[in-house]
Amino acid sequence: MVSFTPKTSVPFFAEIEMERFTGLDYYRVDELYTDEERLVRNTVRDFVDAEVLPIIEAHHRQGTFPLALIPRLGELGVLGANLQGYGCPGITEVAYGLIMQELERGDSGLRSFASVQGALVMFPIRAFGTEAQKIGWLPRLARGEKVGCFGLTEPDYGSDPGGMVTKAVRRGDHYILNGSKLWITNGTISDVAVVWARTDEGIRGFLVEKGMPGFTAREIEGKFSLRASVTSELIFQDCRIPRENLLPGTAQGLKAAFACLNQARYGIAWGAVGAAMTCYDVALKYAKTRVQFGRPIAGFQLVQQKLVYMLTEITKAQLLCLRLGQLKQAEHVHHTQVSLAKMNNVDKAREIARLAREILGAAGIVDEYPVIRHMLNLETLYTYEGTHDIHTLVLGQDITDLSAFA
Ligand SMILES: Cc1cc2nc3c(=O)[nH]c(=O)nc-3n(C[C@H](O)[C@H](O)[C@H](O)COP(=O)(O)OP(=O)(O)OC[C@H]3O[C@@H](n4cnc5c(N)ncnc54)[C@H](O)[C@@H]3O)c2cc1C
Repeated sequence: MVSFTPKTSVPFFAEIEMERFTGLDYYRVDELYTDEERLVRNTVRDFVDAEVLPIIEAHHRQGTFPLALIPRLGELGVLGANLQGYGCPGITEVAYGLIMQELERGDSGLRSFASVQGALVMFPIRAFGTEAQKIGWLPRLARGEKVGCFGLTEPDYGSDPGGMVTKAVRRGDHYILNGSKLWITNGTISDVAVVWARTDEGIRGFLVEKGMPGFTAREIEGKFSLRASVTSELIFQDCRIPRENLLPGTAQGLKAAFACLNQARYGIAWGAVGAAMTCYDVALKYAKTRVQFGRPIAGFQLVQQKLVYMLTEITKAQLLCLRLGQLKQAEHVHHTQVSLAKMNNVDKAREIARLAREILGAAGIVDEYPVIRHMLNLETLYTYEGTHDIHTLVLGQDITDLSAFA
């Protein structure tokens, strides 16, 4: 492969990235975190700097997930970190959010891995599982010894999962599962899949284990977004699932699935801030170093306007996340408040990544800089866990009492 060799005075990423990342904190939000929250954030920040950033571009190019980092995430205690018991540390929601922010500063694929494992697999087992399911899975998932995935989306049912056709039929002490799930993060590397299926008692969640007869998974190729992440199709053909693998607390059907998504969306709202912080950091340093018309481009008013927009939106998003975390910690958070934060922070991060790409000029399209990778990743954030437009309609319904879905 031909490597990128600039012929002009374009600063190398390595040159502008000399100082340690200290974060963007224009409104001194840091002072509002507890000592423990800052410690958790700094620990994950150091891990990302030392172990993620040096390898992530290569994984992104190759379209692979850095599997070797999974046990490290377990050692750091970041998997299901906001859950209590069964090997989970039960840290505050703000500390958990800061973990998501720092992981996504590394790459959205890494944060997605942790989000799926913690919010979409461990959370439903913790909230809706039997004691045996909790004891059997949670400590190993927390340590990163086992990996999980969450299968809700189907080829014909994305934004409208209530129409799902995957079906589980009761046969004595088993269920027989038929159907498929598409766009499933971690699918082919998972030991257990939380799968949502139609039953005679409504939509229920099941733990489908790797190796169960009739269960196969295949990786989706050709992605231009979230390349350092495994995305898969799950296929069930007369898959026999023991009755004890039903999650008993999912009797309320999609309400239980949405409760999981709400946990994950909370992490995405924080994660998007991490991606935006990196883009701003790189763009600012680049603009101060890149000289055109005899002066650094940071001195031009139009460039400053872009940088100030980025600074302003990141600062607003940081404050939104902190308040959302406090509400979640107090168990006073409404799902529409999570929707607003996911919708806004991803939208602004996406715009910030594009502006950073612009500021870098041609250098913005090569992966020597992390900006184009974040820009592409943010397209997935904009779409998954409820698209931007779907969250808009959720909020529209909340404030008008009129549903735009029907
Ligand atoms: C990389 C990646 C990882 C993913 N990981 C997972 C996972 O782990 N588990 C899982 O279950 N799913 C996962 N998903 C799936 C994701 O949640 C869906 O892609 C998402 O819900 C949107 O569904 P869709 O792609 O089918 O789009 P569609 O629902 O077909 O929507 C297409 C467009 O139509 C718009 N639209 C739809 N309905 C309306 C409406 N009523 N009004 C206005 N506009 C509307 C949407 O906003 C969108 O712009 C992942 C997706 C990606 C890309």
